[in-house]
Amino acid sequence: MRGMSILPYTHKHVQAIRAYKPGKPINETARELHMDPDDIVKLASNENPLGASPTAIQAMKHATQGVNLYPDGSAYELRSKIATRYGVSIEQVVAASGSSELIELLCHTCLGPGSELVAARYSFTMYPLMCQLFGATFVEVENKPDWSHDLQAMLRAISPRTRIVFITNPTNPVGTMVQQAELDEFMSQVPEHVIVAFDEAYIHFAEPQPDTLRYVQRGQNAVMMRTFSKAYGLAGVRAGFAITTEEIAGLLNKVRSPFNTSSLAQAAASVALDDEQHLRDSVQLVRSEMRRYERAFNDLGLSYIPSQGNFVLVKVGDGERVYRECLKRGVILRPMSGYGLSEYIRISIGTAEQNIRCLRVLEAALREIALQK
Ligand SMILES: *Cc1c(COP(=O)(O)O)cnc(C)c1O
Repeated sequence: MRGMSILPYTHKHVQAIRAYKPGKPINETARELHMDPDDIVKLASNENPLGASPTAIQAMKHATQGVNLYPDGSAYELRSKIATRYGVSIEQVVAASGSSELIELLCHTCLGPGSELVAARYSFTMYPLMCQLFGATFVEVENKPDWSHDLQAMLRAISPRTRIVFITNPTNPVGTMVQQAELDEFMSQVPEHVIVAFDEAYIHFAEPQPDTLRYVQRGQNAVMMRTFSKAYGLAGVRAGFAITTEEIAGLLNKVRSPFNTSSLAQAAASVALDDEQHLRDSVQLVRSEMRRYERAFNDLGLSYIPSQGNFVLVKVGDGERVYRECLKRGVILRPMSGYGLSEYIRISIGTAEQNIRCLRVLEAALREIALQK
């Protein structure tokens, strides 16, 4: 017997959501291609190809002994470490299971029907998704011709209904940045009723790195969001944190679930913060391998968007087609048609070996497509 559909009794705005589409997983690809998962290279989700810090892995192994117990719901050790590191009070630090959760928590505190969120067109797809989830309006602001956030246009997009502005720095998927002077200017003009969220998932790869904590320390309604998923190599563990005013931190702590960060995540993240060598190695790898891609794109006559992240957008013609051709050859990249950038694909920077293979496969894919024309 087939039951009655429950949809008429659920939120209309939830029904309309198209779920977030992550990079294609290795195992799924291996099954479809009848390949060994070890022969597949995934450069689709901006992960750290060096893996996590060995000391963080050790800490997780140790922490498995206590997994029958609930984690510390206040994540005290992790938060106090972060507070000391950044020179803030522990009451200003919120721990979460990745910065996606922080984004959701922030939206939960102040978005609803009739309210608005402002973000750049080329920034994280989580923001419009959250607007749909909470029935709020997403106000998309066109990027500048150089693909960076247009902060002045974002200021003009703010209305009395605006609750949050997201500044993604460097921004995904294009990899551009806004610098300190522009941020200072923006923060001196932004109305007080708006929360400014700095999504700094890729900040470690950038140079220079603007200081956004200063706005929090001045008491402005700003939130600095960081994640352990990218430079720290802990995407599978789910850990991130926010530093903000005590008032906003208190609100975020009210909406989060009581045990939102697992004991393994807390253990790994606390230790990862101290492994500066691993962080430096990870950043160094990305910077030098980025040069390899830039040289190769120049040689192939492909244009690309200079990136300050651990990923790069390259213009390949038919992005979906190139994605499929590379996939057939065991390299998973990220097509960009979801962003309206159907001529581009996004490549996450891997190890030297992975990048060499990726470039070889990309070249073969482009050749194949040219032959079929
Ligand atoms: C990857 C990413 C995040 C965070 O991901 P989590 O794994 O949830 O911490 C946040 N913002 C942007 C722009 C990202 O690309």
